[in-house]
Amino acid sequence: MEGKAKRYTELREYCETIPLIDCHDHSDECGPRYTDPITALKTGYFNADIHSASSDHDIRILDNTRLSLAERWPIFEKAWKRTCHTGYAQVTRRVLKKFYGEDELTLEALKRIQGKLLDLSDEKTFDSILEDANIAVRLMNRWLARDKILDGTFRLTPRSRIVISLPPYHAICNYTQVQELVAPLGINITSLDEYLDACRKIFDIQKEFGAVAFKDLSAYERTLHFENPSRATAEKVFNRLMEDPRRSIQYPDENKPLGDFLFHEFMRMARDMDLPVQIHTGHMAGVRNDIVKTNAIGLTEIIELHRDVRFDLFHANWPYSGDILYLCKNYPNVAIDFCWANIIDPVYCQNMFKQVLSSVPHGKIHGYGSDYIGSADRAWAHAQIARDNIAIALSDMVEMEYLDVDEAKEVAYAWLFSNANEFFRLNLL
Ligand SMILES: [Zn+2]
Repeated sequence: MEGKAKRYTELREYCETIPLIDCHDHSDECGPRYTDPITALKTGYFNADIHSASSDHDIRILDNTRLSLAERWPIFEKAWKRTCHTGYAQVTRRVLKKFYGEDELTLEALKRIQGKLLDLSDEKTFDSILEDANIAVRLMNRWLARDKILDGTFRLTPRSRIVISLPPYHAICNYTQVQELVAPLGINITSLDEYLDACRKIFDIQKEFGAVAFKDLSAYERTLHFENPSRATAEKVFNRLMEDPRRSIQYPDENKPLGDFLFHEFMRMARDMDLPVQIHTGHMAGVRNDIVKTNAIGLTEIIELHRDVRFDLFHANWPYSGDILYLCKNYPNVAIDFCWANIIDPVYCQNMFKQVLSSVPHGKIHGYGSDYIGSADRAWAHAQIARDNIAIALSDMVEMEYLDVDEAKEVAYAWLFSNANEFFRLNLL
């Protein structure tokens, strides 16, 4: 992408020099080692656009790596032709060009890259791509890493700091889940008070390990509208689970009085531990989910009550930009995080970066988060697109004399580096 404003090139070049804070990543280990060209090109989010442009049946064929490239190519080609202009497809195009030297997606190109697919399980290769992307630090969140973090054996992936996962702690539906969640402490839970104490101990251990935030992605499964039930209501549900280890309640509906109460308790812990809370809002990975439940506006009461908790609201709340702009403008404890959004919809982000500048304090914006599991090649492409989006937006604003080019550079630096550095207390120079 290229902006048309006069100062675009200067601003884009400047953005390239800014070290990035990757506000959201899932790389608990280096990887993957790609073995199949079609998988290597559609892995991660682009699979959802391919799915949206084809069918469940076609996806099953594309994922069947026992079939040859030639057998799967007609289906891949047909879907590619229907979805080759989305933000995710931009990632695929850039990966194809940068890492394999291919300008176009063809069967011949797939055959050529077959023998030189990236091995990202090699830490040196993985890290060299992050270096190339000029990513300074990544905030890494992965539930699967939790037990190793708790017993001190987790090995951080290059440039990462950990973020504590919240959802399983409030999504509890039975006795076994409760006991398993606190098992690393070697204790047996019998009451709500004991459970809350145990959760706090587990969070403290992760903070000791270096955690810089909490993260909640429960909007994939439940509404973000957390109510404020009484302790007695929550305890009644909890005690029912405790009194019969064979009993299980349904998630999310039957869990809600307990889950909502616990979420508020965890917000109090976040405040006391002085850790910000990252929350998934807006669009969800995959296809066929319900967007209404994920609109950040559902968090209004949480944000308003927990004034000493710093909220980092994810994915620019795509597609509800107006609602998140309002929340950020209206509440001092809300920041907008553009992680993932830059590739969900580059033009949404370009427009929103302009609107952000004219409507909310620019010191409350976090401009980049890769949001991949491994796949440093995609994190690199994503970083390029985020820089493009910011340079396009800011150069347009310079063109209309909203601000001058030096001010635009300061804003770009804040969005890509200094705001997140301060917000997450990363203490980078
Ligand atoms: Zn994520």
